[in-house]
Amino acid sequence: MHIMRKKLVFIFFLLLLSGFSIFLSYEFSEKKFLQSNDLHIIHNNENQIPFKKETLDIDYSFIEYYTLKDGDTLTSVLKKTKLTSREIDQLISSTIDKINVNKLKIGTRIEIISYLKDSEKTVREIIIYPNAENKINISKVKDKFIVEKDIKTLFSKNKFYEVKIDKSIYESLKQVEVPDNIIMEFVQLFSFDIDFQRDIRNGNSLKIMFDQYYDKYDNVVKTGSIYFAEINLLSNSYELYRFKSQDMVEYFNADGKSATKALMKTPINGARLSSGFGMRKHPILGYNKKHQGVDFAAPTGTPIMAAGTGHIEFVGNNGGAGKYIRIKHLNGYKTSYSHLSKYASGIKKNVRVTQGQTIGYVGNTGLSTGPHLHYEVIYNGERINPMKMKLPSGKKLEGENLKNFLLFKEKTDTEISLFKS
Ligand SMILES: [Zn+2]
Repeated sequence: MHIMRKKLVFIFFLLLLSGFSIFLSYEFSEKKFLQSNDLHIIHNNENQIPFKKETLDIDYSFIEYYTLKDGDTLTSVLKKTKLTSREIDQLISSTIDKINVNKLKIGTRIEIISYLKDSEKTVREIIIYPNAENKINISKVKDKFIVEKDIKTLFSKNKFYEVKIDKSIYESLKQVEVPDNIIMEFVQLFSFDIDFQRDIRNGNSLKIMFDQYYDKYDNVVKTGSIYFAEINLLSNSYELYRFKSQDMVEYFNADGKSATKALMKTPINGARLSSGFGMRKHPILGYNKKHQGVDFAAPTGTPIMAAGTGHIEFVGNNGGAGKYIRIKHLNGYKTSYSHLSKYASGIKKNVRVTQGQTIGYVGNTGLSTGPHLHYEVIYNGERINPMKMKLPSGKKLEGENLKNFLLFKEKTDTEISLFKS
């Protein structure tokens, strides 16, 4: 009898669990939206920012990216990363029977993630992309290298969340497992209009719709774009729609007013904010120093955009800043870009650049511990925090564009109401 009851309790629990998971999957079910084809293959493109399952929040970690050129082998690439030869030998000998590491094709992308252990560079993980569909993972677990080969065919799904803001936007979105870079993008979309420290109260809410890329095991491999974002404060609500007008994808509010401002806070796509503005321990110099800009971690070669329209004031080597560009904008603003690997063609002193134009590429020149962009905004000679600056708003859609936008907005609103019903 007793055993019987235990069994019943167990079955009841199972039912409860499955009911709960059905509820969850229903609640967070994905919907197709504005996507004619659900199947997306991520192309093997050097400028593609590879997804990191664990973003490296640990200090002094390194991510290095290589694309194999003629004559390269995995061994020769590993030697360039300054791993010890002991580490390289161990890696090659313990993986050679699983993958023919020295027969990888030209164009194969390799990511090497390492960290300092007893001041020696040590492998955490190596990811090899032999082609668009496959990747090979070599991870180091307890001093042993483990090889995983799998097929990575990606497809996208739309996600929608409506959450109450508890403590912070970051924490609220984190709780429903919205990826960090999407949260960052979300915050950035509103950061000209909302003072997050002062305006947000408990009980405020937000909505977000974005797409994510999955592999065949339903693992999130990469995030796409935010299609809709909304913040509801007690008095106001702010909503933004991603809309393509005149070959430009931008975010507009319900009236068709652009969220784009005179200067971009993040003049780079898909990068991760790796170091903010203010006091910090300098990663190379070691002592506490005010960080006069913000850092965005991104692979070497990632295009950097002009944050605003203006004229090139300086281009060239600039000491610890390495390859460096400074743009002079209107109204006392300047922006600067450090540690570049190279400049875009035509970028010369006094040349006019427009907002969003590629001016250079991410690199590791000057005093830098890994490929990243160090971005500064200078206002009347003083460095200010780009993530906090407030600037006048951009243009408003008119005529045919406005008409199309309003139709698009209606369609989006319908999609959202379907998610909620
Ligand atoms: Zn920096």
